[in-house]
Amino acid sequence: MRFGRHLSNTPKGLEHAQRIGCDTVQVFLTNPRGWAAPAYNPALVTAFRAAVEEYGQSPVVVHATYLINLASPRPEIFEKSVTLLRATLERASLYGASSVVFHVGSTTGTAEDAGLERLTDGVRQVMTGAPKDVMLLLENDTGGGGKVGYRFENLAAVLAALPQFGDQLGVCLDTAHLWAAGFDIGTPEGAYSVLEQADSIIGLERVPVLHVNDAREACGSHRDIHARIGEGMIPIEGLTAFLQHPRVAHMTGILETPIPTLEDDTPDWDAERAHMALARGVAGLEMPEAPVATS
Ligand SMILES: [Zn+2]
Ligand SMILES: [Zn+2]
Repeated sequence: MRFGRHLSNTPKGLEHAQRIGCDTVQVFLTNPRGWAAPAYNPALVTAFRAAVEEYGQSPVVVHATYLINLASPRPEIFEKSVTLLRATLERASLYGASSVVFHVGSTTGTAEDAGLERLTDGVRQVMTGAPKDVMLLLENDTGGGGKVGYRFENLAAVLAALPQFGDQLGVCLDTAHLWAAGFDIGTPEGAYSVLEQADSIIGLERVPVLHVNDAREACGSHRDIHARIGEGMIPIEGLTAFLQHPRVAHMTGILETPIPTLEDDTPDWDAERAHMALARGVAGLEMPEAPVATS
């Protein structure tokens, strides 16, 4: 498993990635809480791609804005979601990213089957004519509030309905979302059972990215609050069994956990490196060697 964390889409972000022990990064290309299209800055793209090489971070994963909702019953939200997700895929291709992860959205209280149809139609529109070098990944969610991505069957149904896009479509699993949706991955038996279900319904070969997060709230809470590994409610035995299962070894593991801060509120990168070592250990991975300081 290649392993890293979410950081900023700048050369500095990639430098920090190497410093704290990442092999790989996830980034936003837009404000995650806004509708603005990704800004076009060719110099930043060039500098980012050079830093990817320099700091040895690959693959690069992009997370789309949280506002995207292809299951929305409101036509204007659906249209804006299609447009922005497509723009994010195109920009991700320029950045040399391997994939774009997005939240599949919520019916906001309307019927789930119609929401799934809109989601499938939206993904079809986004993917028709999209760059072929970037995968689009549907992220599982916590359920509740009309969210449709909590069941493996729903994610699998979208993939099955769009065979024309083949390997360009896949799934991103998030351990905190699994837990919040009611999948008890807190014991080795539970973790293996959930992985078996995901394998038989989606196919783990269609899951190239794994978000590795602990959860602040109880299993089945439907609440999406991430905690650092070992500091939340998911028992570490279960998370260890999940992350060290041979059927997830091909995945790219990404932490989306809070970064500790110093007294002046700036990131405490040394503490984050210690946390990365702990998280990598849970996944059975060594730390990469610390970069040699250059004068
Ligand atoms: Zn996400
Ligand atoms: Zn996630």
